[in-house]
Amino acid sequence: MTGKTALVTGGSRGIGRAISLRLARDGVRVAVHYGRDDQAAKQTVADIEALGGEAFAIKADLEEADSADRLWQAFDAEASGLDILVNNAAIIAPGPFAEQTQEQLARLFAVNVQAPFLLVQQGLSRLREGGRIINISSGVTRIAWPNDVAYSMTKGALNTMTLALAKELGPRGITVNSVAPGIIETDMNPWLADPVAADAAAAYSVFGRVGRPADVADVVAFVASEDARWMTGQYVDATGGSQL
Ligand code: NDP
Repeated sequence: MTGKTALVTGGSRGIGRAISLRLARDGVRVAVHYGRDDQAAKQTVADIEALGGEAFAIKADLEEADSADRLWQAFDAEASGLDILVNNAAIIAPGPFAEQTQEQLARLFAVNVQAPFLLVQQGLSRLREGGRIINISSGVTRIAWPNDVAYSMTKGALNTMTLALAKELGPRGITVNSVAPGIIETDMNPWLADPVAADAAAAYSVFGRVGRPADVADVVAFVASEDARWMTGQYVDATGGSQL
C-alpha cells in the first residue's frame, strides 16, 4: 500500500496504535490522531519511524464540538488527500443502567458517534476514489452487554452509519465497513489485571484467550487493502469467536 495515506483516530494507544503500526508496515503514511496523551502519540510516531515508516501526530479532543474541523485543518497542513480513514477513537462509561447519567450519554455520543459522522462528512473532499472507511465497532452490538448500555448503543449507531454510507459512497469506489473487536488487552480494560477477571474474559472467545491489539489490526489491514475491494457495508466480527 505504498504511497497511500491513512488517518487513524485514537491511533496513539491500544488497538489504534496497533492499526497505525500495521498500516505503516504495509507502506502507508499514517496520521496518528489522539486526544490528550502527547507522550503516547510521540512514541507511536517514533516507533513507526524506527520501522522505516512515515507518520505524523494530530491532536484534537473529539469531545469538543469543532474537533473534526480542527483535525482536518491539522491534517491538511501535513498531507494532501487521504486513502484510508479508520474511526477508532472511543470512550466507555461502564456501570449499571440505572446509574448512567445524561452527561455520560452526551459524552459517549459526542466522541463515539458525532465525531466519526463529522469526520467522514468533512473528510469526503479529501478521500480519494477507491478509498476505505473503517469504523471500529464492538462485539457488544451482537451480544447483550447491559453493563454499558449507552456505549453499546453508540457502536450500534456506527454500524448503521456504515451500512448507509456504503451505499452513498459506492459510486466513488469507496468501501465502508465496520470491524468489531471483542475483549482486547488495552488501557480501556484495566480490570484485566485481575487474573480471575482475565480468565473469565478469555472464556468468552472460542480460542480461550483475551484478544491482543494486533489481532484486530491485522483484520483492519485486510479491510483496508486492495484485496477487500469487493466488500462493503459489512460488519466484520473480530471477536475471536466470542459467545458463539
Ligand atoms: P484505548 O482506551 O486503549 O485508546 C483510546 C484511543 O482513543 C487513544 O489513542 C486516545 O487518545 C483516543 N481517545 C480517547 N478519547 C478521545 C477523545 N475524547 N478525543 C480524541 N481521542 C480520544 O482504546 P482501545 O484501543 O481499547 O479501543 C479502540 C477502539 O476499539 C474503540 O473504538 C473501542 O470502542 C473499540 N473496542 C475496544 C475493545 C476493547 O476490549 N479494548 C472491545 C471492543 C471494541 P488519548 O490517549 O490521547 O486520549
